[in-house]
Amino acid sequence: MTTETLQIDVQPIAKSRIDEVDFDNLVFGKHHADHMFVADYVNGEWTDLKIIPYGDLSLSPATAALHYGQALFEGMKAYKNDANEVLMFRPLDNLARLNRSAERMCMPTIPESIFMDGLTTLLRLDAAWVPTQPDCSLYVRPYMFATDPYIGVRPSDTYKFVIFCSPVGKYYAKPPRVKVETEYIRAAEGGFGFAKCAGNYGGSLNPTRLAQEQGYDQLIWTDAREHKYIEESGTMNLMFVIDGVLVTPAISDTILDGVTRKSIIDIAKYWGMEVQERRVSVDEVIGAIQEAKLEAAFGAGTAVVVSPFAAIAHQGIDYTLPEITEESFTNKVYHYLSDLRMGKVADPFGWVIKA
Ligand SMILES: *Cc1c(COP(=O)(O)O)cnc(C)c1O
Repeated sequence: MTTETLQIDVQPIAKSRIDEVDFDNLVFGKHHADHMFVADYVNGEWTDLKIIPYGDLSLSPATAALHYGQALFEGMKAYKNDANEVLMFRPLDNLARLNRSAERMCMPTIPESIFMDGLTTLLRLDAAWVPTQPDCSLYVRPYMFATDPYIGVRPSDTYKFVIFCSPVGKYYAKPPRVKVETEYIRAAEGGFGFAKCAGNYGGSLNPTRLAQEQGYDQLIWTDAREHKYIEESGTMNLMFVIDGVLVTPAISDTILDGVTRKSIIDIAKYWGMEVQERRVSVDEVIGAIQEAKLEAAFGAGTAVVVSPFAAIAHQGIDYTLPEITEESFTNKVYHYLSDLRMGKVADPFGWVIKA
């Protein structure tokens, strides 16, 4: 596809639904902005690029994605600066990851021009939906799925790519209590844990619900072989501050390469902090808690941004974590990341892009 053929047909909504939304009490994922971007993959190329009012899709009952899971998604956030301009945070990193997921799932990749033009056109059209309240943002959900109305097991020939947006507030109202999972697994070597594909989440729901029935909010997944090493959490990468060092499991094919995680690593280094990306065992973290060397354990991801844990449970014992103080790394990096994304501080990394 050449850029000359790239044309987005924009069909604006007749009347905005924005008055239905209480922006002071946003619930994650409940409201969706007026428009969505849609493109179809047919005969080996992306065609029929359009922005239409957000609404239902019509699908064949035989739609391939619904049977064999050729489906993937991304998650990113848009903010507004004081000049009312819409800002995106590292969108090309999300595109690169989307395309890595696509390759693993035998799905077509998306050219940068289609992704960025679709995204920026949509964000400009729905700019009024980008919240300006503290801790709020417009969550952007690009996703792609197989649309062949055919139930033989093979890669689909046709796909749909959609982007829609939801104004969101804070993800967790209070610091979550997490449980180290030592029975179920999320991903194994050679599998597709690194891909943001639908199946990774469907398979995690039941183990997570079991943990919630025991009074925890989320799981810490461990490696599939020994349940000895820490991997990640629901939709968060995991990071620890131990003895002043930022420690995080190294990225592998069982761990999702989070944009928030790698941003925090770069910020920590920029601040002169030591960072270690390596294997992190459960024993090391529990040991650090017992020796009072663990300053913080937190999840990092677009939805939560930075989410310090209140407690970690392992083999039936709850280990309470230190309270997060104003000067703690967790707090500082949360505010710095938020300020960067809202254009409140200079961006030495080149991460923030105007829509
Ligand atoms: C999306 C996600 C993350 C976080 O990635 P970000 O790019 O920081 O949002 C981490 N782990 C899993 C399993 C995820 O789905």
